[in-house]
Amino acid sequence: MGEAESNTLRLRELFQMASSEVSLRGILGVTRFRGVYDSLMDVQKERMREIAGSLFDEFLESGNVISFAFVYPEGVIDNIGLMRDGVFDKEAWNIYAGWYTYLNNSLDKASSLIAEEISGIAISATTTGLASKLTHVSQYFPGVVSHRVHAENSGIGWRGKNSLIVNPRYSCMIRLSGVITDTPLVHTPSIKEGCGECTSCEDACTFLKHRGRLDDYREQCRVYLDNLGLDDEVCGKCIKACVHSPRLVSTPGIPEDQQLKSVYYTSL
Ligand code: SF4
Ligand code: SF4
Repeated sequence: MGEAESNTLRLRELFQMASSEVSLRGILGVTRFRGVYDSLMDVQKERMREIAGSLFDEFLESGNVISFAFVYPEGVIDNIGLMRDGVFDKEAWNIYAGWYTYLNNSLDKASSLIAEEISGIAISATTTGLASKLTHVSQYFPGVVSHRVHAENSGIGWRGKNSLIVNPRYSCMIRLSGVITDTPLVHTPSIKEGCGECTSCEDACTFLKHRGRLDDYREQCRVYLDNLGLDDEVCGKCIKACVHSPRLVSTPGIPEDQQLKSVYYTSL
């Protein structure tokens, strides 16, 4: 077994351990740093350079991005957007908001562990708290790294019509994080599936449905979730719609000789 293969097995063990510690299911993939960097918006390239620091040139030459996700427990997403007596049931919706925060904290613990053990730089999960501080969504992008680009390139899922990463097994009921490293690892390819004719998320959100007529629907989204007044700055109706969409397929079994080259799913 080569160095990349044995490092990848070790990485999977670590991720299984990190998932078990927080009692969450997970998904893990690996892609080239260069491919991620080339796909980023210019302002996000700048942020990636900052995070990589003095190792940037090395990462560009031979670095990897470890992309991973934790999955919301069954039923959590169903609390989004419930109605009671003709109004939104915010108590139920806040159950989702609470898990959102838990997943972010769990991701940060996992990325710290992996970065320490595999020798890399942890990238924090994307958190909230900015929607109310910004005056336009465009101000958000320079400060964050796109975990979605990492996840897309490493085969965690495809980019859905709701702009989120859609995993074939868990849909969008995931949150993402990652680690940059120059440790040799086996890469997992991006996946070719897509949304097809499905429009469930667009049917659930008027901003998504009419995004072609809006300057940037993400600005309407920002204002909406800021005004929603939940415990965290979340909405998630487009996630719930995707989870219940007919588009999702069961993940086929992966032949043993291909398993190292495919995204890894942890079990509880
Ligand atoms: S989070 Fe809510 S407002 Fe934003 S795109 Fe999704 S459904 Fe629409
Ligand atoms: S709801 Fe359908 S169209 Fe929207 S992201 Fe999910 S699979 Fe794609």
